Amino acid sequence: MSRAGDDKMPIGTTAGTPQVLLAHHLKQLKLPTVLREYEKLARECARDGVDHTRYLLRLIELELIDRERRTVERRIRAARFPAVKSLDTFDFTAIPSLNKMLVLELARCEYILRRENIIALGNSGTGKTHVALALGLAVCQKGFSVLFTTAAALVNQLMEARDEKRLLRMQRELAAVKLLIVDELGYVPLSPTGAELLFETFSQRYERGSTIVTSNLPFEDWTQVLGSERLTGALLDRLTHHVSILAMNGDSYRLKQSARRRRTAGADQNQATTPD
Ligand code: ADP
Ligand code: MG
Repeated sequence: MSRAGDDKMPIGTTAGTPQVLLAHHLKQLKLPTVLREYEKLARECARDGVDHTRYLLRLIELELIDRERRTVERRIRAARFPAVKSLDTFDFTAIPSLNKMLVLELARCEYILRRENIIALGNSGTGKTHVALALGLAVCQKGFSVLFTTAAALVNQLMEARDEKRLLRMQRELAAVKLLIVDELGYVPLSPTGAELLFETFSQRYERGSTIVTSNLPFEDWTQVLGSERLTGALLDRLTHHVSILAMNGDSYRLKQSARRRRTAGADQNQATTPD
């Protein structure tokens, strides 16, 4: 008697082959890696004389490894990085003012547990965003939540949220994330309301979560962006209480790279036109 066509497959049913049932149950239990790997691994274990317990252990370990990878990927998507960059592709020799040991230490993410902050200061093109992205990625990989934004975008979103009467909810979300990265403070001067909202964000995160800020301006010029000396003082007070400062003044990496490319192209051309 065939039961094919039945929608539900109750546990213990004799309908279908065991593979079909197993696939169904594994999907329900959300064990995609077990489903994908169990047959292949079973063949390997049979061939090598591995017992059932060890077979099961290997299978479950594969699921755990995959699950961790999926969770990290989800965290990276949630962080809204404009690009995924790591320290592996960062050339420390290009920026001698930057304390490499400090950056490597920060990449271990212990400051997150201490709820400390990082401020990267320096002129344009010196790798501030790159380092902030790389540190953010490391934090995702360690299992903490991250959110990346620019100062201008954050302030715009806060103002929008305020107009739409959902400021409290947004502030709660911002306060809950383990690491908030605010890139490019200083390129756009903020309105008094914008500056106030940014101050509130930092204030609400104070000693609750870590914040990374990058800026092209030295601290003494932050008043130009925030508008008020009183507000700047209060903001810096909170932000710099527990802080690592990354000094990133130097030549623009982009400019240097394009100059090098031009030189190489010029040399190639010379080579091409030089008669031998
Ligand atoms: P900033 O934020 O300080 O203006 P970015 O981080 O945006 O600078 O850097 C500009 C570009 O140059 C990016 O593509 C970045 O990946 C690259 N870059 C900057 N510094 C380095 C470096 N030291 N090693 C490798 N790439 C770098
Ligand atoms: Mg930048």
